[in-house]
Amino acid sequence: MSVAATLVHALRKRLSKPGGYELFDIRLKQRIALSPSLMRFVFTGDEVGLMQILAPDQRVKLFFPSTDGTSPCLPKSGDWQAARRALSAEKTPPMRTYTLRNLRPDAHELDIDFVLHGETGPASRWAMHCQPGDRLQIVAPHAAYRGDPGGYEWQPPDGVRHVLLIGDETALPAMAGILEQLADHPDAPHVQAFIEVPEEADCLPLLCGLNAKVHWLPRASLGKRHGEGMILAARELASLPPIRAALHIATPEEALDLNTQRPWERASAKQGDFYAWIAGESAAVMAIRQFLINEQGLARQQLTLMGYWKQGRSLE
Ligand SMILES: Cc1cc2nc3c(=O)[nH]c(=O)nc-3n(C[C@H](O)[C@H](O)[C@H](O)COP(=O)(O)OP(=O)(O)OC[C@H]3O[C@@H](n4cnc5c(N)ncnc54)[C@H](O)[C@@H]3O)c2cc1C
Repeated sequence: MSVAATLVHALRKRLSKPGGYELFDIRLKQRIALSPSLMRFVFTGDEVGLMQILAPDQRVKLFFPSTDGTSPCLPKSGDWQAARRALSAEKTPPMRTYTLRNLRPDAHELDIDFVLHGETGPASRWAMHCQPGDRLQIVAPHAAYRGDPGGYEWQPPDGVRHVLLIGDETALPAMAGILEQLADHPDAPHVQAFIEVPEEADCLPLLCGLNAKVHWLPRASLGKRHGEGMILAARELASLPPIRAALHIATPEEALDLNTQRPWERASAKQGDFYAWIAGESAAVMAIRQFLINEQGLARQQLTLMGYWKQGRSLE
Protein backbone atom coordinates (compact mmCIF):
# COMPACT_ATOMS: atom_id res chain seq x y z
CA MET A 1 0.00 0.00 0.00
CA SER A 2 1.32 3.50 -0.85
CA VAL A 3 1.85 6.09 1.90
CA ALA A 4 -1.19 8.05 0.67
CA ALA A 5 -3.38 4.94 0.63
CA THR A 6 -2.18 4.01 4.12
CA LEU A 7 -3.05 7.50 5.39
CA VAL A 8 -6.50 7.36 3.80
CA HIS A 9 -7.09 3.92 5.32
CA ALA A 10 -5.99 5.17 8.76
CA LEU A 11 -8.19 8.29 8.48
CA ARG A 12 -11.21 6.24 7.41
CA LYS A 13 -10.63 3.91 10.33
CA ARG A 14 -10.45 6.86 12.77
CA LEU A 15 -13.69 8.29 11.46
CA SER A 16 -15.47 4.95 11.22
CA LYS A 17 -17.51 3.39 13.98
CA PRO A 18 -15.65 0.91 16.20
CA GLY A 19 -15.76 -2.78 15.38
CA GLY A 20 -17.00 -5.40 17.83
CA TYR A 21 -13.49 -6.11 19.10
CA GLU A 22 -10.79 -3.43 19.06
CA LEU A 23 -7.13 -3.14 20.07
CA PHE A 24 -6.39 -1.23 23.29
CA ASP A 25 -3.30 -0.32 25.33
CA ILE A 26 -3.20 -1.46 28.95
CA ARG A 27 -0.61 -1.42 31.72
CA LEU A 28 -0.26 -3.60 34.77
CA LYS A 29 -1.42 -1.95 37.97
CA GLN A 30 -1.35 -4.75 40.53
CA ARG A 31 -0.64 -8.46 41.03
CA ILE A 32 -2.84 -10.30 43.50
CA ALA A 33 -1.94 -13.91 44.37
CA LEU A 34 -5.21 -15.87 44.50
CA SER A 35 -3.62 -19.25 45.15
CA PRO A 36 -0.33 -21.07 44.42
CA SER A 37 -1.30 -21.55 40.76
CA LEU A 38 -3.47 -18.52 40.02
CA MET A 39 -2.47 -14.87 39.92
CA ARG A 40 -4.90 -12.01 39.34
CA PHE A 41 -3.57 -9.12 37.26
CA VAL A 42 -5.33 -5.79 37.54
CA PHE A 43 -4.71 -3.72 34.41
CA THR A 44 -5.45 -0.06 33.91
CA GLY A 45 -5.29 2.53 31.12
CA ASP A 46 -7.37 5.39 29.71
CA GLU A 47 -8.88 3.06 27.09
CA VAL A 48 -10.23 0.52 29.60
CA GLY A 49 -13.28 2.79 29.95
CA LEU A 50 -14.13 2.06 26.30
CA MET A 51 -14.50 -1.70 26.79
CA GLN A 52 -17.50 -3.84 27.60
CA ILE A 53 -18.14 -7.36 28.88
CA LEU A 54 -21.18 -9.33 27.75
CA ALA A 55 -20.81 -12.69 29.47
CA PRO A 56 -18.77 -14.31 32.23
CA ASP A 57 -16.73 -16.29 29.70
CA GLN A 58 -15.94 -13.25 27.53
CA ARG A 59 -12.63 -13.92 25.86
CA VAL A 60 -9.95 -11.42 24.97
CA LYS A 61 -6.63 -11.63 23.15
CA LEU A 62 -3.54 -10.41 24.97
CA PHE A 63 -0.27 -9.46 23.29
CA PHE A 64 2.97 -10.07 25.17
CA PRO A 65 6.52 -8.77 24.71
CA SER A 66 8.27 -10.22 21.68
CA THR A 67 11.39 -12.37 21.96
CA ASP A 68 13.61 -9.30 21.49
CA GLY A 69 12.04 -7.94 24.71
CA THR A 70 10.01 -5.14 23.08
CA SER A 71 6.59 -4.38 24.61
CA PRO A 72 3.75 -4.87 22.13
CA CYS A 73 2.98 -1.72 20.13
CA LEU A 74 0.74 -2.76 17.26
CA PRO A 75 -0.84 0.21 15.47
CA LYS A 76 -4.34 1.13 16.61
CA SER A 77 -5.15 2.98 13.45
CA GLY A 78 -5.14 0.75 10.42
CA ASP A 79 -5.04 -3.00 10.23
CA TRP A 80 -3.16 -4.31 13.29
CA GLN A 81 -3.42 -7.89 12.07
CA ALA A 82 -1.65 -7.07 8.82
CA ALA A 83 0.91 -5.01 10.75
CA ARG A 84 1.57 -7.97 13.06
CA ARG A 85 1.96 -10.36 10.13
CA ALA A 86 4.52 -8.02 8.57
CA LEU A 87 6.82 -8.15 11.62
CA SER A 88 9.86 -10.42 11.81
CA ALA A 89 9.58 -13.46 14.11
CA GLU A 90 11.61 -11.87 16.92
CA LYS A 91 9.54 -8.68 16.80
CA THR A 92 6.10 -10.34 16.65
CA PRO A 93 4.24 -10.01 19.96
CA PRO A 94 2.90 -13.45 20.98
CA MET A 95 -0.89 -13.51 21.24
CA ARG A 96 -2.82 -15.68 23.74
CA THR A 97 -6.50 -15.98 24.74
CA TYR A 98 -7.72 -15.14 28.25
CA THR A 99 -11.01 -14.56 30.05
CA LEU A 100 -12.04 -11.05 31.00
CA ARG A 101 -12.72 -11.85 34.63
CA ASN A 102 -13.94 -8.40 35.75
CA LEU A 103 -14.29 -5.04 34.08
CA ARG A 104 -14.70 -1.76 36.01
CA PRO A 105 -14.88 0.80 33.19
CA ASP A 106 -15.50 3.77 35.49
CA ALA A 107 -12.39 2.96 37.51
CA HIS A 108 -10.50 2.14 34.27
CA GLU A 109 -9.63 -1.31 35.59
CA LEU A 110 -9.92 -4.86 34.37
CA ASP A 111 -8.90 -8.17 35.94
CA ILE A 112 -7.44 -11.23 34.25
CA ASP A 113 -6.62 -14.37 36.23
CA PHE A 114 -3.56 -16.22 34.91
CA VAL A 115 -2.61 -19.82 35.57
CA LEU A 116 1.10 -19.88 36.42
CA HIS A 117 2.21 -23.00 34.60
CA GLY A 118 5.92 -22.27 34.36
CA GLU A 119 8.38 -20.75 31.94
CA THR A 120 7.22 -22.77 28.93
CA GLY A 121 4.98 -20.18 27.23
CA PRO A 122 5.26 -16.43 26.69
CA ALA A 123 2.08 -15.66 28.64
CA SER A 124 2.90 -17.72 31.71
CA ARG A 125 6.54 -16.53 31.60
CA TRP A 126 5.39 -12.91 31.49
CA ALA A 127 3.00 -13.57 34.37
CA MET A 128 5.81 -14.92 36.53
CA HIS A 129 8.17 -11.98 36.01
CA CYS A 130 6.05 -8.89 35.22
CA GLN A 131 6.06 -5.74 37.31
CA PRO A 132 3.48 -2.99 37.82
CA GLY A 133 3.80 -0.47 34.97
CA ASP A 134 4.53 -3.17 32.34
CA ARG A 135 2.61 -2.53 29.12
CA LEU A 136 0.57 -5.02 27.10
CA GLN A 137 -2.04 -4.72 24.37
CA ILE A 138 -5.45 -6.36 24.38
CA VAL A 139 -8.18 -7.00 21.83
CA ALA A 140 -11.46 -6.65 23.73
CA PRO A 141 -15.12 -5.80 23.01
CA HIS A 142 -15.72 -2.09 22.32
CA ALA A 143 -18.63 -0.59 24.28
CA ALA A 144 -19.66 1.71 21.42
CA TYR A 145 -20.23 -1.20 19.05
CA ARG A 146 -23.93 -1.44 18.28
CA GLY A 147 -24.19 -5.15 17.48
CA ASP A 148 -23.22 -8.26 19.38
CA PRO A 149 -19.42 -8.57 19.27
CA GLY A 150 -19.55 -12.30 20.17
CA GLY A 151 -16.51 -13.80 21.87
CA TYR A 152 -18.46 -15.72 24.49
CA GLU A 153 -20.17 -19.14 24.58
CA TRP A 154 -22.12 -19.11 27.87
CA GLN A 155 -25.66 -19.00 26.49
CA PRO A 156 -27.89 -21.37 28.49
CA PRO A 157 -31.23 -22.10 26.83
CA ASP A 158 -34.45 -20.56 28.08
CA GLY A 159 -36.09 -22.58 30.80
CA VAL A 160 -32.94 -24.46 31.76
CA ARG A 161 -33.30 -26.28 35.11
CA HIS A 162 -30.00 -28.19 35.36
CA VAL A 163 -26.58 -26.84 34.49
CA LEU A 164 -23.40 -28.93 34.45
CA LEU A 165 -20.07 -27.08 34.48
CA ILE A 166 -16.80 -28.97 34.05
CA GLY A 167 -13.43 -27.28 33.66
CA ASP A 168 -9.83 -27.07 34.73
CA GLU A 169 -7.90 -24.14 36.20
CA THR A 170 -7.83 -22.25 32.87
CA ALA A 171 -11.64 -22.32 32.88
CA LEU A 172 -11.88 -21.40 36.57
CA PRO A 173 -12.09 -17.63 35.89
CA ALA A 174 -15.04 -18.16 33.54
CA MET A 175 -16.71 -20.70 35.84
CA ALA A 176 -16.34 -18.38 38.83
CA GLY A 177 -18.05 -15.64 36.81
CA ILE A 178 -20.83 -18.00 35.67
CA LEU A 179 -21.51 -19.07 39.27
CA GLU A 180 -21.59 -15.42 40.39
CA GLN A 181 -24.01 -14.52 37.63
CA LEU A 182 -26.32 -17.42 38.51
CA ALA A 183 -26.16 -16.57 42.23
CA ASP A 184 -27.79 -13.23 41.39
CA HIS A 185 -30.53 -14.91 39.41
CA PRO A 186 -33.90 -15.08 41.21
CA ASP A 187 -34.89 -18.34 39.49
CA ALA A 188 -31.48 -19.99 39.17
CA PRO A 189 -31.21 -23.55 37.84
CA HIS A 190 -29.56 -26.34 39.82
CA VAL A 191 -25.85 -26.25 39.10
CA GLN A 192 -23.19 -28.92 39.48
CA ALA A 193 -19.70 -27.48 38.98
CA PHE A 194 -16.61 -29.71 38.79
CA ILE A 195 -13.34 -27.82 38.82
CA GLU A 196 -10.01 -29.56 38.37
CA VAL A 197 -7.07 -27.61 39.85
CA PRO A 198 -3.40 -28.42 40.51
CA GLU A 199 -3.57 -28.64 44.31
CA GLU A 200 -5.79 -28.28 47.35
CA ALA A 201 -4.72 -24.68 48.00
CA ASP A 202 -6.09 -23.71 44.56
CA CYS A 203 -9.66 -24.44 45.67
CA LEU A 204 -10.79 -20.83 45.91
CA PRO A 205 -13.79 -19.55 47.84
CA LEU A 206 -16.37 -18.87 45.12
CA LEU A 207 -19.51 -16.82 45.32
CA CYS A 208 -22.38 -19.11 44.40
CA GLY A 209 -26.07 -19.52 45.06
CA LEU A 210 -27.87 -22.08 47.19
CA ASN A 211 -28.77 -24.09 44.09
CA ALA A 212 -25.13 -24.55 43.13
CA LYS A 213 -22.81 -27.31 44.31
CA VAL A 214 -19.10 -26.90 43.63
CA HIS A 215 -16.88 -30.01 43.58
CA TRP A 216 -13.13 -29.40 43.59
CA LEU A 217 -10.82 -31.93 42.00
CA PRO A 218 -7.25 -31.14 43.10
CA ARG A 219 -4.85 -33.25 41.02
CA ALA A 220 -2.09 -33.50 43.62
CA SER A 221 -4.28 -34.95 46.36
CA LEU A 222 -6.26 -37.18 43.99
CA GLY A 223 -3.06 -38.46 42.39
CA LYS A 224 -4.41 -37.59 38.94
CA ARG A 225 -2.84 -36.19 35.81
CA HIS A 226 -4.09 -33.20 33.79
CA GLY A 227 -7.65 -33.77 32.57
CA GLU A 228 -8.30 -37.00 34.49
CA GLY A 229 -10.39 -35.22 37.12
CA MET A 230 -12.57 -33.61 34.45
CA ILE A 231 -13.13 -36.97 32.76
CA LEU A 232 -13.89 -38.62 36.10
CA ALA A 233 -16.48 -35.91 36.79
CA ALA A 234 -18.25 -36.58 33.50
CA ARG A 235 -18.10 -40.37 33.79
CA GLU A 236 -18.78 -40.97 37.46
CA LEU A 237 -19.47 -37.95 39.58
CA ALA A 238 -21.98 -35.82 37.69
CA SER A 239 -25.59 -36.86 37.74
CA LEU A 240 -26.55 -36.65 34.11
CA PRO A 241 -30.10 -36.16 32.92
CA PRO A 242 -32.05 -39.22 31.86
CA ILE A 243 -30.90 -40.38 28.47
CA ARG A 244 -33.29 -38.84 26.05
CA ALA A 245 -31.44 -38.99 22.83
CA ALA A 246 -30.02 -42.50 23.09
CA LEU A 247 -31.49 -43.52 19.79
CA HIS A 248 -30.34 -40.45 17.95
CA ILE A 249 -26.78 -41.77 17.73
CA ALA A 250 -27.30 -43.79 14.62
CA THR A 251 -24.11 -42.07 13.47
CA PRO A 252 -21.86 -41.57 16.50
CA GLU A 253 -19.77 -38.43 16.71
CA GLU A 254 -16.36 -38.95 15.15
CA ALA A 255 -13.38 -38.02 17.31
CA LEU A 256 -11.67 -34.85 16.09
CA ASP A 257 -8.03 -34.97 15.03
CA LEU A 258 -6.44 -33.00 17.86
CA ASN A 259 -3.33 -32.36 15.77
CA THR A 260 -5.31 -30.17 13.44
CA GLN A 261 -8.57 -29.38 15.23
CA ARG A 262 -9.54 -27.83 18.54
CA PRO A 263 -12.80 -29.01 20.14
CA TRP A 264 -15.11 -25.98 20.01
CA GLU A 265 -18.86 -26.53 19.82
CA ARG A 266 -21.62 -24.29 21.09
CA ALA A 267 -24.96 -25.67 22.26
CA SER A 268 -27.63 -24.61 19.81
CA ALA A 269 -30.81 -25.46 21.75
CA LYS A 270 -32.82 -22.29 22.41
CA GLN A 271 -34.94 -24.04 25.01
CA GLY A 272 -34.27 -27.01 27.24
CA ASP A 273 -34.02 -28.48 30.65
CA PHE A 274 -30.32 -29.34 30.66
CA TYR A 275 -27.20 -27.48 29.53
CA ALA A 276 -23.53 -28.35 29.95
CA TRP A 277 -20.58 -25.92 29.61
CA ILE A 278 -17.23 -27.74 29.48
CA ALA A 279 -13.79 -26.19 28.95
CA GLY A 280 -10.18 -27.11 29.57
CA GLU A 281 -7.38 -29.16 28.09
CA SER A 282 -8.38 -30.28 24.58
CA ALA A 283 -7.85 -34.04 24.94
CA ALA A 284 -9.92 -34.10 28.14
CA VAL A 285 -12.70 -32.06 26.52
CA MET A 286 -12.64 -34.43 23.56
CA ALA A 287 -12.90 -37.51 25.80
CA ILE A 288 -15.88 -35.97 27.62
CA ARG A 289 -17.52 -35.08 24.30
CA GLN A 290 -17.25 -38.65 23.09
CA PHE A 291 -18.56 -40.03 26.39
CA LEU A 292 -21.54 -37.69 26.73
CA ILE A 293 -22.66 -37.96 23.13
CA ASN A 294 -21.71 -41.49 22.09
CA GLU A 295 -22.07 -43.37 25.38
CA GLN A 296 -24.67 -41.34 27.24
CA GLY A 297 -26.66 -40.25 24.21
CA LEU A 298 -26.85 -36.59 25.16
CA ALA A 299 -27.82 -34.35 22.28
CA ARG A 300 -24.93 -32.12 21.20
CA GLN A 301 -27.40 -29.21 21.02
CA GLN A 302 -27.27 -29.21 24.84
CA LEU A 303 -23.48 -29.17 25.07
CA THR A 304 -20.97 -26.36 24.84
CA LEU A 305 -17.45 -27.81 24.63
CA MET A 306 -14.22 -25.85 24.34
CA GLY A 307 -10.58 -26.89 24.18
CA TYR A 308 -8.97 -23.94 25.99
CA TRP A 309 -5.42 -25.24 25.56
CA LYS A 310 -3.59 -28.31 24.35
CA GLN A 311 -0.91 -30.23 26.21
CA GLY A 312 2.44 -29.92 24.46
CA ARG A 313 1.32 -27.21 22.01
CA SER A 314 1.17 -23.40 21.92
CA LEU A 315 -2.22 -22.12 20.77
CA GLU A 316 -2.99 -18.45 19.96
C1 LIG B 1 -11.51 -18.81 25.50
C2 LIG B 1 -10.27 -19.06 26.36
C3 LIG B 1 -10.18 -18.50 27.61
C4 LIG B 1 -9.05 -18.74 28.41
N1 LIG B 1 -8.99 -18.15 29.64
C5 LIG B 1 -7.89 -18.33 30.40
C6 LIG B 1 -7.76 -17.66 31.67
O1 LIG B 1 -8.61 -16.85 32.07
N2 LIG B 1 -6.66 -17.93 32.41
C7 LIG B 1 -5.66 -18.78 31.97
O2 LIG B 1 -4.65 -18.96 32.68
N3 LIG B 1 -5.76 -19.41 30.77
C8 LIG B 1 -6.83 -19.19 29.98
N4 LIG B 1 -6.91 -19.80 28.76
C9 LIG B 1 -5.85 -20.75 28.38
C10 LIG B 1 -4.61 -20.06 27.83
O3 LIG B 1 -4.92 -19.41 26.63
C11 LIG B 1 -3.54 -21.15 27.56
O4 LIG B 1 -3.18 -21.81 28.73
C12 LIG B 1 -2.31 -20.61 26.85
O5 LIG B 1 -1.71 -21.68 26.20
C13 LIG B 1 -1.29 -19.98 27.76
O6 LIG B 1 -0.25 -19.46 26.96
P1 LIG B 1 1.30 -19.60 27.32
O7 LIG B 1 2.02 -18.61 26.48
O8 LIG B 1 1.47 -19.53 28.80
O9 LIG B 1 1.68 -21.08 26.87
P2 LIG B 1 1.78 -21.65 25.34
O10 LIG B 1 2.90 -21.00 24.59
O11 LIG B 1 0.45 -21.58 24.68
O12 LIG B 1 2.14 -23.15 25.64
C14 LIG B 1 3.46 -23.54 26.05
C15 LIG B 1 3.39 -24.91 26.71
O13 LIG B 1 2.66 -24.78 27.92
C16 LIG B 1 1.59 -25.71 27.96
N5 LIG B 1 0.44 -25.05 28.63
C17 LIG B 1 -0.35 -24.05 28.19
N6 LIG B 1 -1.27 -23.73 29.12
C18 LIG B 1 -1.04 -24.54 30.18
C19 LIG B 1 -1.64 -24.70 31.45
N7 LIG B 1 -2.67 -23.93 31.85
N8 LIG B 1 -1.14 -25.64 32.28
C20 LIG B 1 -0.08 -26.42 31.93
N9 LIG B 1 0.53 -26.33 30.73
C21 LIG B 1 0.06 -25.40 29.87
C22 LIG B 1 1.29 -26.02 26.49
O14 LIG B 1 0.70 -27.29 26.37
C23 LIG B 1 2.67 -25.94 25.87
O15 LIG B 1 3.34 -27.18 26.03
C24 LIG B 1 -8.01 -19.56 27.93
C25 LIG B 1 -8.10 -20.11 26.65
C26 LIG B 1 -9.21 -19.87 25.87
C27 LIG B 1 -9.28 -20.45 24.47
